[in-house]
Amino acid sequence: MEHKDIVADLHTHTIASGHAFSTVAEMVTGAQQKGLKMLAITDHGPNLPGGPHLYHFSNGHIIPRQYPGLELLWGVEANIVDVEGNLDVPEQYLDLLDIVLAGFHPEAGYDNRGIEDNTRAFIAAVRHPRVQILTHPGNPYYPVDYERVIPAAKAYGTAIEINNSSFTGFRKGSFEVCCEVAKIAKRHGAPLVINSDAHIACQIGTFDKSLEVARIAGLEVSDVINTSIESIRAHLKGKKARVEACR
Ligand SMILES: [Zn+2]
Ligand SMILES: [Zn+2]
Repeated sequence: MEHKDIVADLHTHTIASGHAFSTVAEMVTGAQQKGLKMLAITDHGPNLPGGPHLYHFSNGHIIPRQYPGLELLWGVEANIVDVEGNLDVPEQYLDLLDIVLAGFHPEAGYDNRGIEDNTRAFIAAVRHPRVQILTHPGNPYYPVDYERVIPAAKAYGTAIEINNSSFTGFRKGSFEVCCEVAKIAKRHGAPLVINSDAHIACQIGTFDKSLEVARIAGLEVSDVINTSIESIRAHLKGKKARVEACR
């Protein structure tokens, strides 16, 4: 797998997240400059200190989705708040979004509660009918039984993220854990996604360390959803179809 195989960055933050630094317009330009075909803007859910109000998400209908060479998805990186996999963004807001990511963040409703509870919370989150990507599951701060979470992610059609920012910031030890996560996901045939988690426009499309993980785990293009627009659409639609079937 090479950098050119990745056509979309599906996890990025704007100034609305409180600790990120670029506007929507700057993010669009940044993604175009990197030659990406799709960009998802996924600001933090409101529980994160400095995070946006829920209105930020519901007002996304005013944001144009099409730009020269680039499609924009309006989404969220919601916070998992309990072992039942509940999120800090209510269903009626999730319904308005193009893409929903979810993960654990300290000081946002769920700090590490030990491997058993963390595993239960992750399994519940991947079963959540709206959650399409589980963010930075390889964060060593939240130990998890991947042999239980990853088969559930496969069964419920939720992608496992290899988050490039985890390797450059404060999630120490992520590289080794993410190599294991990627190997287990490959073995189970669970969908994977490689994202930058950019908090500034110039970080968009930075996947170098995640690609190293992909190489170590022996991932192929077909294992990673954001290697074609068609596979991204199929992934997002697949989860939606399961939601409809449950109604
Ligand atoms: Zn995050
Ligand atoms: Zn993020």
